[in-house]
Order: sequence, then C-alpha cells, then structure tokens
Amino acid sequence: MKESDLLNIAQTFGSPTYVYDANKITSQYERLTKAFKNVPKLKLHYAVKALSNLSILKLMKSLGAGLDTVSIQEVQLGLAAGFDVHEIMYTPNGVSLEEIEQAAELGVKINIDNLSILEQFGSKHPTIPVCIRINPHVMAGGNHNISVGHIDSKFGISIHQIPHVLRIVELTNMNINGIHMHTGSDILDIDVFLYASEILFKAATNFKNLDFIDFGSGFKVPYKKDDIQTNVEELGEKLTTRFNQFCQEYGKDLSLIFEPGKFLVSESGYFLAEVNVVKQTTSTVFAGIDSGFNHFIRPMLYSSYHHIENISNPEGRERYYSVVGYICETDTFGNNRRISEIREGDILKFNNAGAYCFSMASNYNSRYRPAEVLWYNEEAHLVRKRETFDDIVKNQVEIDI
Ligand SMILES: *Cc1c(COP(=O)(O)O)cnc(C)c1O
Repeated sequence: MKESDLLNIAQTFGSPTYVYDANKITSQYERLTKAFKNVPKLKLHYAVKALSNLSILKLMKSLGAGLDTVSIQEVQLGLAAGFDVHEIMYTPNGVSLEEIEQAAELGVKINIDNLSILEQFGSKHPTIPVCIRINPHVMAGGNHNISVGHIDSKFGISIHQIPHVLRIVELTNMNINGIHMHTGSDILDIDVFLYASEILFKAATNFKNLDFIDFGSGFKVPYKKDDIQTNVEELGEKLTTRFNQFCQEYGKDLSLIFEPGKFLVSESGYFLAEVNVVKQTTSTVFAGIDSGFNHFIRPMLYSSYHHIENISNPEGRERYYSVVGYICETDTFGNNRRISEIREGDILKFNNAGAYCFSMASNYNSRYRPAEVLWYNEEAHLVRKRETFDDIVKNQVEIDI
C-alpha cells in the first residue's frame, strides 16, 4: 500500500489508528511455507496473541493457517473466526486445570508445560492426547523479558525432567501426541536454533505415538533498514533435511508445526497518530502525538525500535525530534529521530505496528483504544471501531455515595 492510502485512512477513520496490510501478511505466510516446501506435512499456527482481530484471524484461515492460543478467550476467538477445533492448539502457561479442561472439552489440541498439571490432567483424562512443552534451555537471544528458554524461565518442562514426564505417562496411561518448544523471540543464529531442535528430537524418541513436533516461533523481523533478521530460507533448508531424516528414523511422517506471530504480522502494521504539539525546549524538539503507551507500549516496555516517518510532509527538511505521547508519565516513542519537518496536525507513521501493539493496548488515562483498519483487496476496511465513552464506563457499577 502507498503512503497516500495511509493518509486517506487517517483522514477517513481519524487518529490514532492501526492499519494492517493484508498483502504483507500473505507474502510473509508464503515466504515461510515456501522455505519449508519439502516438509510433507507443514502447518503454521498463527500466534493469536500478536494481533487477535477477527478479520486478521479470518485472513489467516484463508491462507491455510491454524492457530496457537494461550487463553480460552483466544480459543473462542478462533472458533468465532471459523476455525475448526482441530486447527487450534492451546498452549497455556500458569493457567488453571479447569481452563485447560474447558479447552479440552471444546476439542482443541492441548499443550501442557508443567509436571503438576500434566499429572492431574493425565489422571483425570487419560484418553485425551496432549502435547508437552519442553524447555531445552537454549537462549535464542532478544530482550530478557521475551527470551523464554533460559534455565530460570517459567516456560516449559525442563529437558532434565523428561524422566518425570515418562513416569507420569506410564502411571496415568496418557498419550503424548506431540512435543513442543518455543525458545524465545529472536532467532538470530540458526545454528543455535538447530542445536535446540536436536534436543527436541532426542526427547521425541521417548514417545512412541507422536503426530507432530512443534518448533514454536521466534522468527526475527527487521525493524530498521539493514537490520538482521532470521534467514528463514536457510533455516528451512537445514531443518527440513534434519526433520525428514528424523521422521524416517522415527518411522512416521510427523507434522512440523511453527507458531509465528511477529513474523506474519509485525511488518504489515502501521500506527498512525496526529501531532498535537511541537514543543521546542532549550535542548530538544518534542513532537507530542495524540496517543501514548496506552495504545502502543512496546517502546516503553521492551525498548523496541519503531521507525517513525512524517507522511504529511515527506519532502520536508529533516530535523531531530523526540516523539512523545500524551500520557502523564514518561512516554517516549523515539529519541533524537531524524524526521522530515513536523508541523502541528501532521500524521506520523510508525512501522512494525502489527504484532503486540493493539493487542497490548489499554484504556490508561481513560482514553479510547484506537480503531483498526485492514487493507484488503486494495481497499481500506474498518475492522474495529474506535471506542467511545460507553466503553469506558460500561462495566462500572456505581453505588450510592
Ligand atoms: C508468543 C508465542 C508465539 C509467537 O511468538 P512470536 O515471537 O510473535 O513469533 C509462539 N508460540 C508461543 C507458545 C507463544 O507464547
């Protein structure tokens, strides 16, 4: 899509607004499936938590994806978007046995990541197959808060606890149909990922009735020009060879599953916000926008970089700006960014705003959450209305005071 399309969207739907380009989602989906085209049974489970709008889920379904879900509500969203239960995997962490049973009752694939729940679930429901989430204790990089493979991580059953898993399986007579890992968020070194995969293959040989191996996600996408990103083609070539060889040894064509979130939607997304005020201090020029970390928390939460452009004045002379929000707390989107001259009323575009942006938005400062627009079939479609004051008060119960 073109910059003029984005400007039109800001004009039509107001600001701030999230925009997602379906063409980019489609091309990312195709890039990943092509990289693994020699795996006989490949399945991509889109990680719903990255961006959970129903129209995005429907787009994923039309591409042939399944879903990876982490809460019962995400399972319900998947069903509402038309997915079959068999296409949905439920991968909770720290969730109650009751909620896991609810998901199992619906018929979705269950992934369990701790011994206590595994034993309880297996004792009560020995006929329901489950997948186990292994922690191979391999660090795949990224910010500490998004790396989930390290030794003190809360995720997964430690690879050193496989003997305990086997004891529970024997005791309960349950059936393990898959094994899973999700090592973190940034695969930069393919050899590190392959090393973790070897640990998973070795663990897999302990289970005789597997249907699939799920390698999770962690595909890194570029945020800046020349940024390093996961070379999915190289990973595809190397892992395919090894996976097919493993299947031969195992004696069965297993499904290979990935659960990409960011890879599919990050770059498809743009966040559009209007500049309320340009404020010159003795040291800095601030551009204050009509949004804040209530709508877009990643820069403050993970120090993530999001490229910012002034699409209202693309030819303007470049100057240095600190782009800040309107929240009454430090609320910085970018410091000392070179941006073409910003005037009050201009529309700024933030890149990589597809994953973990709207889905983490809140009403902090009692603001409305933004609208969402999907660019699909070369047209802009409103897929979520901006909130209104009703949304702020609808669940509040006023008492007489
Ligand atoms: C969040 C998550 C993903 C998606 O991770 P990305 O880095 O967005 O690709 C995949 N699997 C599980 C279990 C997750 O929790």
